[in-house]
Amino acid sequence: MTIINTEKRIFLSSPHMSGNELTYINNAFETNWIAPLGPNVYQFEKEISKYVGANEAVAVSSGTAAIHLALSLLEIKKGDKVFCSSLTFIASANPIIYQGAEPIFIDSEPDTWNMSPNALDKAFKDALNEGNLPKAVIVVNLYGQSAKMDEIVSICNQYNVPIIEDAAESLGSTYKGKASGTFGEFGVFSFNGNKIITTSGGGMLVSNNIAAIKKARFLATQARDPAPHYQHSNIGFNYRMSNILAGIGIAQLGVLNERVKARRNVFKRYYQELGHLPGFYFMPELENTFSNRWLTALTINEEEACVSVEDLLKALAESDIEARPVWKPLHLQPIFQGVKFYPHSENENISEDLFKNGMCLPSGSNMTENDLMRIINCIKERVLFGNGRKTDDKNGVYVNDRTQYI
Ligand SMILES: *Cc1c(COP(=O)(O)O)cnc(C)c1O
Repeated sequence: MTIINTEKRIFLSSPHMSGNELTYINNAFETNWIAPLGPNVYQFEKEISKYVGANEAVAVSSGTAAIHLALSLLEIKKGDKVFCSSLTFIASANPIIYQGAEPIFIDSEPDTWNMSPNALDKAFKDALNEGNLPKAVIVVNLYGQSAKMDEIVSICNQYNVPIIEDAAESLGSTYKGKASGTFGEFGVFSFNGNKIITTSGGGMLVSNNIAAIKKARFLATQARDPAPHYQHSNIGFNYRMSNILAGIGIAQLGVLNERVKARRNVFKRYYQELGHLPGFYFMPELENTFSNRWLTALTINEEEACVSVEDLLKALAESDIEARPVWKPLHLQPIFQGVKFYPHSENENISEDLFKNGMCLPSGSNMTENDLMRIINCIKERVLFGNGRKTDDKNGVYVNDRTQYI
């Protein structure tokens, strides 16, 4: 018998419009501000800088473009080294390659899942000994959780190396009361379709360095010299955000705090319903930090849980629910084979452990309680019946000591 699933697919993180976006889009149409740049772009930039407390912001076509601009502004070129978090989406590191530079990947630590200050310190010491310090450090705030910024900033300052904070996933998060994305020389946000707010596609580069952001605007519009004819003394990019998309961004930013609240509530519901299950460990929120909980992430200890991440992902997929493993660390990516990697300690490789045992649950701010219960029940069912490891072999009786927890 084929079971037909009449319920709709639940996505990992789908766009969530407020309705106000249309006002800005319509206004762009009415005033014919269809072409790149225009009042929505400038307003969106101003509002983002104000929201995060940075001096300046430049709206661009993607988060990846923002990282690329940051590396260009720091004049990173062929032969330069750049340290980068390993446990992240590949977009964090691709711009290093665009610049012809060499990435070196840094492991995570268990408290935030982000860049390990231990590993970073070791990487710097080695680089100093080799007389080849990195030109920048790209720090990622995974799934909305800030990295240990005090420690990381202090190490980078010691060597006078600038930080690019990849806050693509952490808009709306704070570390000791200060907005995520404002800890380095540059901060990067993404408005890709699955991020906490979206412009359908887009990004933002922020900084307190006003001159640098001015230069970013110049580089992002083909580096056109101020001359009546088309004159160029630099190689630039076509990276600006369009006025229509910026309009979507303004309206989305207006509901960002609500979106953060909703995602934190999604996390809370999962935690209430699944947090007590043996072997289920949710991604921590470091003391004095506030995570937007972009995605609810957890690790499964297979021994304790009697179920593996693979089992759970399969069960969810069969119920038309989109869940994902944790990012595959960049040092394990085929394209980065042979790239140097610094583990958390000599015998602890945190990012690989998180990859092996970690998963992300659907976390959209537009999910209903019904959606949440469908996911939670699917997981509970799998935990109860799905593993087959606790069978009483002698009698063929199915025994599972999980019942008491459900
Ligand atoms: C989404 C994301 C990016 C890239 O953003 P795009 O807007 O998709 O280019 C970069 N880094 C991280 C950690 C991301 O999650």
